[in-house]
Amino acid sequence: MVKLAEWRGKELFRKYGVPLPRGSVARSAAEAESLAREGLVPLPCVVKAQVLAGGRGKGGAVRFALTPEGARAAAEAILGLDFKGEKVRELLLEEKLTIARELYLSLTLDRSARVPILIASARGGVEIESVDDVDIERIPVHPFPGIAAYEKRRIARTLGLTAAPAQALDRLLDALWKLFQHEDAELVEINPLAVVGDGLVAVDAKVIIEDDAAFRHPEYSEIRDDRTPLEEIAREKDIAFVQLDGNIGVIANGAGLTMATLDVLQEFGGRPGVFLDLGGTDDPRKVTEAFLLMALAKPKAVFLNIFGGVTRCDTVAKGLVEAMKRVPASHRFPLVARIRGNNEKEGIEILRGAGIIAIPTLRESAQAVIAAAGGKA
Ligand code: GDP
Ligand code: MN
Repeated sequence: MVKLAEWRGKELFRKYGVPLPRGSVARSAAEAESLAREGLVPLPCVVKAQVLAGGRGKGGAVRFALTPEGARAAAEAILGLDFKGEKVRELLLEEKLTIARELYLSLTLDRSARVPILIASARGGVEIESVDDVDIERIPVHPFPGIAAYEKRRIARTLGLTAAPAQALDRLLDALWKLFQHEDAELVEINPLAVVGDGLVAVDAKVIIEDDAAFRHPEYSEIRDDRTPLEEIAREKDIAFVQLDGNIGVIANGAGLTMATLDVLQEFGGRPGVFLDLGGTDDPRKVTEAFLLMALAKPKAVFLNIFGGVTRCDTVAKGLVEAMKRVPASHRFPLVARIRGNNEKEGIEILRGAGIIAIPTLRESAQAVIAAAGGKA
C-alpha cells in the first residue's frame, strides 16, 4: 500500500485541477520562516506536519501563524515531534483560508460490491468513522461512464450546495474521478473539503495508490512505509515476509498454509514472530535467500510446514538442506519440519539425514517447535 503524504496527494490534486490553498513544503524552521517572509506562503498561514496518521488537527500537529516568526515557532514546535509513532520531518505551509463549512468527499473501492464508491457528507473535518451513518451518502460508481450528472446533483444536495458552489463540485468530481482512475488510486479523500466564498478548496488530501499497480508508478518507489528493514529487503527480493511480535519463525508454502500454520501455533500456545511464504518456489537460490532472511530475524526456533504438491517433497528437502548449510553457524536456528505430499518418505529421510527434526503430524510438530522455542507463552 503506497500511502501518500498530504503534500504529495495535493501535487496530484494540482495535476488534475482540484482547487488547493497556496502553499509550499518546508523541512526546517528557517525554511518555514523564509517561505512566509518572502510571500511564497501568504499570511496568516497554516503549518502542518506531513505524517501519514490522521487527527493532526486534534493532536497539535496543525498550527496557525500570523507572522514569519510565528511560522518559525510553529515549525519548531512540530518538527521532530513523534506523532503516533512517526517522526515529523516535513511540513506543509499554506495560506489560512476563511472556511464557511467543512465537507467530506472521497472515492474508494467497495470490495464487496466490486465497484468504486463515492462517499460524501456535509459533516466534514472530523474522521468519517465518527459521523452518523444517516449523514453519509454512498454512491456506487459505474467504472466505465464514471460519475453521472444525476449522481453529481445528488451529492450537491447532500452537501447543501447550490448555484456556483454546486458547479464547482461538478468540476471537482470530474477531476477526482480522473485522478482515481489514471493514478491507480484505491482511496482519494478530501477531509475537509472547505466551502470558501463561492468555491470549494481541498484543505486536506489523502491518497493511497493500489499496491498491485505500484510497478506503474516508479515515482513512489523511494517512499518507505511501515515495513521493517528486513521486510524492506524481502520486498526487494520478492519474498513474502512479515515480522510479528512472537519468537517462532514460520516457513510455509502458499498463503493459505502459511496463515493456517500461524493459527495452529497460536492454538497450541506458541507465539509466531515472523513468517515467510515460499510460494511455489523450490529454486535453491531463492530458498537460501529466504533462510538467510529468517536467520536475520533471530527466531528462537523455526517451524517449516511444507506441502509437496507440484514440487516433490524430496526435491524441496534437498533444497532446504542446501540452504540450511549456507546459513552461517552463528545464525542457525533450531528447525522443526513437517513435510507432506508427493515422495514425503524420501523427503523426511533427507531432512533427518541432515540433522533436522522432521515430524509428519501437525500437532506433534507444532508442539515440538514450541518446546524448542522455550515453551508456551
Ligand atoms: P487532520 O486533522 O490530520 O485531518 O488535518 P487537516 O488537514 O484536516 O486539518 C485539521 C483541521 O484544521 C481542519 O479540519 C480545519 O478545521 C483546520 N484547518 C486546516 N487548514 C485550515 C485553514 O486554512 N483555515 C481554517 N480556518 N482552518 C483550517
Ligand atoms: Mn483531515
